[in-house]
Amino acid sequence: MDAMEANQFREFGKEMIDYVANYLENIRERRVLPTVEPGYLRPLIPSQAPEKPDKWQDVMKDIERVIMPGVTHWHSPKFHAYFPTSNSYPAIVADILSDGIACIGFSWIASPACTELEVVMLDWLGKMLDLPEEFLACSGGKGGGVIQGTASEATLVALLGAKARAIHLVKKEHPDWNDADITVKLVGYCSSQSHSSVERAGLLGGVQLRAVPTDNANKLRGDTLEKAIREDREAGLIPFYVVATLGTTSSCTFDNLEEVGSVCNDNNLWLHVDAAYAGAAFVCPEYRYLMKGIEKADSFDFNPHKWMLVNFDCSTMWLKDPSWLVNAFNVDPLYLKHDQQGSAPDYRHWQIPLGRRFRALKLWFVLRLLELKIYKSTYANRLA
Ligand SMILES: *Cc1c(COP(=O)(O)O)cnc(C)c1O
Repeated sequence: MDAMEANQFREFGKEMIDYVANYLENIRERRVLPTVEPGYLRPLIPSQAPEKPDKWQDVMKDIERVIMPGVTHWHSPKFHAYFPTSNSYPAIVADILSDGIACIGFSWIASPACTELEVVMLDWLGKMLDLPEEFLACSGGKGGGVIQGTASEATLVALLGAKARAIHLVKKEHPDWNDADITVKLVGYCSSQSHSSVERAGLLGGVQLRAVPTDNANKLRGDTLEKAIREDREAGLIPFYVVATLGTTSSCTFDNLEEVGSVCNDNNLWLHVDAAYAGAAFVCPEYRYLMKGIEKADSFDFNPHKWMLVNFDCSTMWLKDPSWLVNAFNVDPLYLKHDQQGSAPDYRHWQIPLGRRFRALKLWFVLRLLELKIYKSTYANRLA
C-alpha cells in the first residue's frame, strides 16, 4: 500500500466511524424489519466484480442504497424478536484493533498477547461470576477458560471431550473393545427444554442424545435423569454426558443443577452447563442462587454477546479439565510446533477451527470501560 492509498483508507475509515456512530445514535428512527422481498439485492449491484477499483465514496453511498434496506436492526430499541444481542462502543473499537492486528492466534507463539489476554480475561470474568476456583487458570490447577464463537460450539466441544473421556474409561475395563464398539453404545442426556443446538451437538458428534422430560415447572430434575440412566445401562448402553440449561430458550427456566450435578458426579458423567442467554446475570450476586450446584459441573458456557455489551461473537467457556479436549483434538503437525509448547494453552486444541480471532480485546475493553453498575441495572430491568 503506498502513501496515497493509506491516506484514502484513513479517510474511508474516519467516515465509516462517523457513519456507525450516526447509525447507532439514530437507529430508533429506522423501521426494524425490512420490507424487501427475497432476491431484492442482486439487481441493485453489477453481476460481476469491477475490473478497475471503485471509489470509496461510491462504496459509502451504496450502504444506504443496497445494504440498509435489507437490514434487520437488532440493536433498535424497538427490536423484540429472538433474544437481545449486545453491542457497545468499547466492543466495536476493540474489534477494529483486532481486525487491524489480524493475527491468527491458534498457538501461543502465533501471537502471545492473543492467548495470554484471553487466559486472563476468562479469569476476570470467571471471578465476576464467582465461578468455583477449579474453573480458573489463576487457581494453578488444570482448569481454565476459552472464547468460543457460539454456545453451540461449546456444547459440541464439551460433548467431544466427554466422549474422549468415556472411551478412555471404558477401554480400561474392556481393553478388547475398539472406539467404534464403544461409540455406538454411548448415550447423552438433555432436557426436553434444551436449545436445538444440543440435539445438533449429538448429531454432529455421532452419539445418541436422549431428551429427558422436565417437571411441571419445566426444570430437569435428578430423579428423572437417574431413571433414564438406569434404563439405558440395563439396555447395555453407556451414559456419558449431560447438558443442563440455566435459562432455557422458551421460558428462561433454570434446571435443578444441584440434583442433576449429584447424579452426574455419582455416575461419572460429564456435566456441561449451557447458560448462553442467562449466564451474564450471575455477575449480580442476587441471581447466583440460580446456579447453585455449579461446582458439580465439568464445563460451563455463556454468551457475553447476548447480554454483556460485547458484540457477536464471544461465547465464554470454562473447563475443569481441558486435557480431555486437548488430547482428543491434538494432531500437532510439525509446522505448528513451537519451543514453548505446554507453558501456555495452545487454544487450537480447545476448539474446532484452527484459526482464531483476537476476541479477548472485546472483553478487555468492555470490562475496563463500562462500569459494573451499568450491567447491574440492565440485568435488573430485564429480569424484573
Ligand atoms: C442462544 C442460546 C444458544 C445458542 O447460542 P449460539 O451462541 O448462537 O450458539 C444455546 N443455548 C441457549 C440456552 C441459548 O439461549
